[in-house]
Amino acid sequence: MAEKVLVTREIPEAGLRLLEEFDTTVLSEEPPERGRLLEAARGVEGVLSVLTERIDAEFMDAAADNLKVIANYAVGYDNIDVEAAKERGIVVTNTPVVLDETTADTAFLLLLAAARRLGEAERFLRAGKYTAWGPKLLLGPEVWNKRLGIIGFGRIGQSLARRAKGFDMDLFYYDPFRNESAERELGVKYLEFEELLSTCDFISLHTPLIPETRHLISKAELDRMKPKAVLVNTSRGPVVDEAALADALENRSIFAAGLDVFENEPEVHPKLLELENALIVPHIGSASFEARDRMATTAAENLRAVLKGEEPPNPVDL
Ligand code: NAD
Repeated sequence: MAEKVLVTREIPEAGLRLLEEFDTTVLSEEPPERGRLLEAARGVEGVLSVLTERIDAEFMDAAADNLKVIANYAVGYDNIDVEAAKERGIVVTNTPVVLDETTADTAFLLLLAAARRLGEAERFLRAGKYTAWGPKLLLGPEVWNKRLGIIGFGRIGQSLARRAKGFDMDLFYYDPFRNESAERELGVKYLEFEELLSTCDFISLHTPLIPETRHLISKAELDRMKPKAVLVNTSRGPVVDEAALADALENRSIFAAGLDVFENEPEVHPKLLELENALIVPHIGSASFEARDRMATTAAENLRAVLKGEEPPNPVDL
């Protein structure tokens, strides 16, 4: 009998095609209610999950002893209790690499757009306020020749550096692990965390969400930043203390922020919704046709490998 597989949300066809040999249920287009998710978990051997679903011990116990693999449709896996999975001998996988370039594009898009006030400018025009070109209309800092500080110099952080190099930015990074070969290859210099905060014009976050990075950027860190600093976050919302950021933007203690992710998604701090210098988009970091197809096939290949008793291409190291 074919193994039971649960796909928690509708994903691109390219991935579902790879799961045709299993008894596959695609639960819903929208995030499923918790009760429905737990009900659907019963007896499944493989789960393909997305980041809106909390895959915790309760879920794993609902699946009981059958569950062998949780294949996340994302590179981040903070929605999964990996320790609970490990205790139960369940393999967890993710989708690294295939979304690096698209997500780095989003980070650079937010960096440029927040600096040059793209959202505000569009709202201004649509509101019929554009009555004449102005020498001082909607000015922002230029990007060329400025200092970019990358916090978290992994795959996506390095992809961002490649883009920024083409814009003639001076490149710096902080990461608990120094990567000297990438430093040489990309012309990026290492800085201590505090020095990066106080000396860079643009700061972009690319860490995973782990206990050490929760509220990595809080009031004290925002206070260190330059008054014209632009902060970009395409990592995970809780890496930034959103209330402290809203205050900093309101008080103009930094110039702007470009945010793809939020502390309590899909909720956004009410102040951020009002502030012109907050450029905010709904977690579209990896939202290109191509990246989403590759994420779907990668997640499905990981799931399939485990159910066939093979080594999955992308196990999460526990
Ligand atoms: P990666 O593992 O290649 O890189 C993460 C880097 O962060 C590593 O070099 C690690 O050493 C570093 N790091 C860990 N703790 C740190 C700390 N305290 N301070 C500074 N750096 C620290 O991961 P990646 O593929 O580059 O992805 C990074 C994160 O981006 C993912 O974990 C995910 O949460 C997020 N992401 C978001 C989207 C989106 O749609 N917005 C898309 C893809 C990834």
